[in-house]
Amino acid sequence: MEHHIAPENSITPEVKELIAKYEKAELVKKHRGFGTNAIHAGQEPDPITGGVSVPINLSSTYAQKFPGEPFGHFDYSRCGHPTREAFEIAIAAAEHGKYGMAFSSGCAATTCIVQTLAGVGDHVICCDDVYGGTQRYMRQISQQKNGVTFTFVDMTDVKNVEKAVQENTKLIWIETPTNPTLKVCDVEAICAFAKSKNIITATDNTFPSPYLQSPLLLGSDISVNSVTKYIGGHSDVVMGALVTNNKELRDKLFFTSKTIGGTPGAFDCYLALRGLKTLKVRMEAACKNAQIISEYLEKNPKVEKVIYPGLTSHPQHEVAKKQMRGFGGMITFFIKGSIEESRKFLAAMKVMTLAESLGGVESLIECPAVMTHFSVPPEVRKELGISDNLIRLSVGLEDIEDLVYDLQQAFEKI
Ligand SMILES: *Cc1c(COP(=O)(O)O)cnc(C)c1O
Repeated sequence: MEHHIAPENSITPEVKELIAKYEKAELVKKHRGFGTNAIHAGQEPDPITGGVSVPINLSSTYAQKFPGEPFGHFDYSRCGHPTREAFEIAIAAAEHGKYGMAFSSGCAATTCIVQTLAGVGDHVICCDDVYGGTQRYMRQISQQKNGVTFTFVDMTDVKNVEKAVQENTKLIWIETPTNPTLKVCDVEAICAFAKSKNIITATDNTFPSPYLQSPLLLGSDISVNSVTKYIGGHSDVVMGALVTNNKELRDKLFFTSKTIGGTPGAFDCYLALRGLKTLKVRMEAACKNAQIISEYLEKNPKVEKVIYPGLTSHPQHEVAKKQMRGFGGMITFFIKGSIEESRKFLAAMKVMTLAESLGGVESLIECPAVMTHFSVPPEVRKELGISDNLIRLSVGLEDIEDLVYDLQQAFEKI
């Protein structure tokens, strides 16, 4: 079997210097208590066996002492089970919130929120570069079947949100940084405005993960994550979660969740808990690798443009610095050329995997125009700047030398 390791002396002195700079730098500001909570919140040793790992509890139903009087607080697993409860406590702590709720996917969490807050005759404002699945649900289910209207706006300017508000606006849906153009919007400013109008805000926190960004501390009513990505972290579980501090809102969301379903099984919750424990170290490593790669790409003559919130050239770099503890593991760049060059470049990868999704330990690289965002209408893609030479990279935890070498050898093929 061929091992794709960078040969000695394959890395240029400039790249070596970059690596040395960031090996020393403390990129991510300390997130007090995050690591401890991720490992211990909701995860006390088992009171009977002393086991330190939360058990995978597969019961779908729970015995009752008398009719309507269960032994504990579980009755049926769609409404809650012990492994899910442990994860819900842990994710709430990670998001600096009180109430966590787990779902069978990020999309199930999203639909639960929109279903709860917007019905016939209501209006929702959403960022224009929102996750494809969110936009599809909003346009093709919520709008077409449930009678909700949507306005999609560029949220990098809070004025666009202000202009879009109507009397019947019930929800503002924020996502930052966005996918794949990594636009950053000011969560604090948007949420302050929403509060003044009594509109609920939900922030999709998937790209930064709770380690790098805390929407609830920035004023958002709900923080929602696709656990499938950084929290799970190993590309082996599909799950979602939301966290809120508002008890009344939590009760409404819980009612929707138990009624429409879309709740997770015990094995998935176990994997999510296992992933969350190492989120901190994985995120720090991904940020470091991504910063080095983005600076390497910015100097590469075969690259037209690089978008990474950690670069001073990023248009919202200052906002990112203000609200994020690190700049994340996602990089978007435009190679010089057309779809032909994109295809050749991606097919040449040896260490990075050509695949959709993100947030795993392995680096994943793709061309959104023909992969993740193929279902976005071509004119909308054009408007959002998702061109055929746009490459999206989810930087993993491989050795930085091997990642840079992989890009270098692929550039040599175009
Ligand atoms: C993947 C993703 C989702 C949807 O999550 P699933 O777990 O795939 O259902 C939502 N938002 C963002 C930003 C995502 O990347």
